[in-house]
Amino acid sequence: MATLSIDDLDLRGRRVLCRVDFNVPLDSDDGATTVADDTRIRAALPTIRKIIADGGKAILMSHLGRPKGEPDPTLSLRPVADYLDDLLDGPVHFCEDTVGDRARTMVHNLPEGGVLLLENTRFNPGEKANDDAFARQLAELADVYVNDAFGTAHRAHASTEGVTHHVPRAAMGYLVAKEIEVLSKVLDAPDAPFVTVLGGAKVSDKIGVIENLIGTVDHILVGGAMSYTFMKALGQQTGSSRVEEDKLDQAKSLYEQAEGTLQLPVDHVVATAFSADAPHRVTQGEIPEGEMGLDIGPATVEAYREKLLGAKTIVWNGPMGVFEMEPFAKGTFAIAETLAEATDAGALTIVGGGDSVAAITQAGYAETVSHVSTGGGAMLTFLEGETLPGIAALSQK
Ligand code: ADP
Ligand code: MG
Repeated sequence: MATLSIDDLDLRGRRVLCRVDFNVPLDSDDGATTVADDTRIRAALPTIRKIIADGGKAILMSHLGRPKGEPDPTLSLRPVADYLDDLLDGPVHFCEDTVGDRARTMVHNLPEGGVLLLENTRFNPGEKANDDAFARQLAELADVYVNDAFGTAHRAHASTEGVTHHVPRAAMGYLVAKEIEVLSKVLDAPDAPFVTVLGGAKVSDKIGVIENLIGTVDHILVGGAMSYTFMKALGQQTGSSRVEEDKLDQAKSLYEQAEGTLQLPVDHVVATAFSADAPHRVTQGEIPEGEMGLDIGPATVEAYREKLLGAKTIVWNGPMGVFEMEPFAKGTFAIAETLAEATDAGALTIVGGGDSVAAITQAGYAETVSHVSTGGGAMLTFLEGETLPGIAALSQK
């Protein structure tokens, strides 16, 4: 059994309802709202172009931001429709409603090869509630359904899950197919040595991933604030570093379960306050009272580099420090550079997570690494070994 793909569908003349991830950052300077980062829009282009080329009617839908189940003009997808119109050679129509009469009429009038973007799915309370009536209204607009929104595949919403129950066939688009292919390889058959770098704000986000990877992973290299929860759990001093007090027992037992594969930083960049201007220095081992860890230190960078340059498979999620502040960005950028080197040396390298992707992009290596995942939460859910409702709901071949 395999998930149905867009390549298995006959699209000519069909109404192809396609869930994309156009949840992009917007910029609203001097009255005009524009797209601030088009990565997610570009990621959906292969699927959109396929529908156009095959003479299907591309009916695109997405959420944007967090409207409270009602229309919010600041979160309209209209600027995205305008942006997509510029990217594609041909008009992109925009419907101010997501479902209902106006949407039906615009879909009806759409020519073969035409593109229509519906308004923000989350303007309707039925979206997040996965309401069956709303899912049916969406399905009314479709002859076939395609999901190409990997970033929301871990959510069972009306446009990602509910709708699939009311269309004859539901397939995955090219972006989802690529994400699943790369991440399945990592889960099921990673080439050894397999090394994962985990950092970021909270250990609680990553417990499930660590549990699931123990056994196949050769090294778990830990950085970011989650390091201090592990350190404290092992009885070490962490000063005023960020620690999740309610996760100490779990961190300790994870560390023991990992049997030496989980490595913690051996030195840290510490500061007296959470500020780019605070006095800072490098310290070895434990973190004294009155200081907080805000980045991994140079000896840790060296140790992690050595492990990474010997790896054949690398997964990175979570920055090594507060990379938004220049004095605490070195560790994160050093890891980004090392992933690029490892890629050149033949390793499969994967980066996921909103902040991690921002970091690898800032470092200039987003094009160098093997795969930049468009899903943060979806990637972590997949790596936890959990099923993604938006993928599980698709038709089988
Ligand atoms: P991602 O978005 O890649 O999944 P996370 O959201 O888990 O990553 O974590 C990123 C955040 O973690 C960043 O905002 C960064 O500033 C913060 N962070 C990293 N290290 C530390 C630290 N030592 N102390 C406080 N915050 C940290
Ligand atoms: Mg984040």
